[in-house]
Amino acid sequence: MAADTTVTANVDYEAVIGLEVHSQLLTRSKMFCACGSGYQDAPPNTVVCSVCMGMPGVLPVVNERAVEIAIATGLALNCTISELTKFDRKNYPYPDLMKGYQISQYDQPVAYGGRLDFEVDGESSSVRITRVHLEEDVAKLLHRGDGRESYSLLDINRAGVPLMEIVSEPDMRSADEARAYLVALRSILRYIGASTANMEEGSFRCDANVSVRPRGSDALGSKVEVKNMNSFRSVHSAVEYEIARQARVKADGGTITQETRGWVEDRGVTVSQRSKEYASDYRYFPEPDLPPLAIGAGWVSRVRDGLPELPASRKARFVSDYGIASADAELLVSSKASADLLDAVVDASQAKGKARRKRARAAGNWINGELAALLNAEGAALEDKRVEPTHLAQLLDMVDSGALSTGMGRTVLEEMYNTGRDPRKIADEAGISQISDTDVVRAAVDQAVADNPQPVADYLGGKETALRFLVGQVMKATRGKANPQMASEMLRDKLESLR
Ligand code: ADP
Ligand code: MG
Ligand code: ZN
Repeated sequence: MAADTTVTANVDYEAVIGLEVHSQLLTRSKMFCACGSGYQDAPPNTVVCSVCMGMPGVLPVVNERAVEIAIATGLALNCTISELTKFDRKNYPYPDLMKGYQISQYDQPVAYGGRLDFEVDGESSSVRITRVHLEEDVAKLLHRGDGRESYSLLDINRAGVPLMEIVSEPDMRSADEARAYLVALRSILRYIGASTANMEEGSFRCDANVSVRPRGSDALGSKVEVKNMNSFRSVHSAVEYEIARQARVKADGGTITQETRGWVEDRGVTVSQRSKEYASDYRYFPEPDLPPLAIGAGWVSRVRDGLPELPASRKARFVSDYGIASADAELLVSSKASADLLDAVVDASQAKGKARRKRARAAGNWINGELAALLNAEGAALEDKRVEPTHLAQLLDMVDSGALSTGMGRTVLEEMYNTGRDPRKIADEAGISQISDTDVVRAAVDQAVADNPQPVADYLGGKETALRFLVGQVMKATRGKANPQMASEMLRDKLESLR
């Protein structure tokens, strides 16, 4: 049934999507107090103080590092940085809010009016960024109970952790595009060290605003805000589901009412949570306990100077300087750790010109291929592993020189990955090496030719397959260690010299 409605949606309706992303910031302390911001492993209610517990009579102080991260994010997203930014109270009654209001930013966010460029299936796409603002995270409610008696526990540790909200314009048109936007955004946040940006851990959260309209129309339809997705896959599924649902409602002559819906992962549906609140419901007003904050041009330019090379320009460099294919470069830069590793391996090789490009491509293939496979197998991230660039460079040297076959290289890499040891030592100790010693291979070639007159005659009579048999004899004589390419070339030379 879902399949039918998707078809209807594709034919008659266009989806319009705008995303709101909340990201916890990698600061040492919380947004408005001196409590540590790393609460994940702390026992409940131990990382708290009178400010983040919402006691009366205490004053918040703005975390300078959080503002700096928001400026950096704004710059990375091509935004204008506000010369004057201010904080506002967003009022709503809910037990996860200690004070009865959340300190957020309303009409003067840190940054606004930007753009994020990225790729969707090889096509370039550009989404306008409405704003980047700061706020504080809320406490965590843990719902407990056995049905007869139910209650909620409150863990205040998370209250006051710096949150940055990044709001996009409604510029996306498909679930694929929404996911690609999120992947690109996550990668930028990680590059600039803004956040761990991990959806499963809740340091990167996304609310998706979805509407549909007749294809060709410029007007915006009523939007539905979808919440509760905690993976990229669930954002994609939720957006797809919601587009199909709205298209079906409209195709049946119904109307979409503005509301908030929750994604129910195990059922694969969105369900109505509440009719949409409006900004006026929050009774926003300027936070009286915090003065507005002037962001001087000097500060902005220092932050700009401190920005690392961002994924898009790094990708362009990998393509132009290293000759790496665009899709491979895209994959490499999607993780800063793998892109850093590639650059370091290339630098370690000290190769110049063409050799440098060749080395870069080889390194890229090993990182995207064998290394990624090892990481995937244990669900690890490169960031958490120590893969020494010099070791990977040595491994590539050994494969290049023929000391290791590609297969042997894989074995050595796996051991290197598991132990962090030097690949040369690993190969030596395990006796993994390929004989590329010309004299040794030549002796085996001469022997194979002398011992096998019939296949030699067959080859000279035009039977190519006889060569394969003779290479096999050389491999056997060297117990599989001869460099097969070298053996094959030497055999051919030898046989040709017999004509
Ligand atoms: P609200 O005041 O309800 O929070 P905003 O105008 O602030 O609405 O927009 C919130 C998010 O919803 C933004 O990401 C925006 O791009 C998106 N959005 C706004 N209108 C639509 C629409 N008609 N369809 C899809 N997304 C929309
Ligand atoms: Mg909003
Ligand atoms: Zn505190």
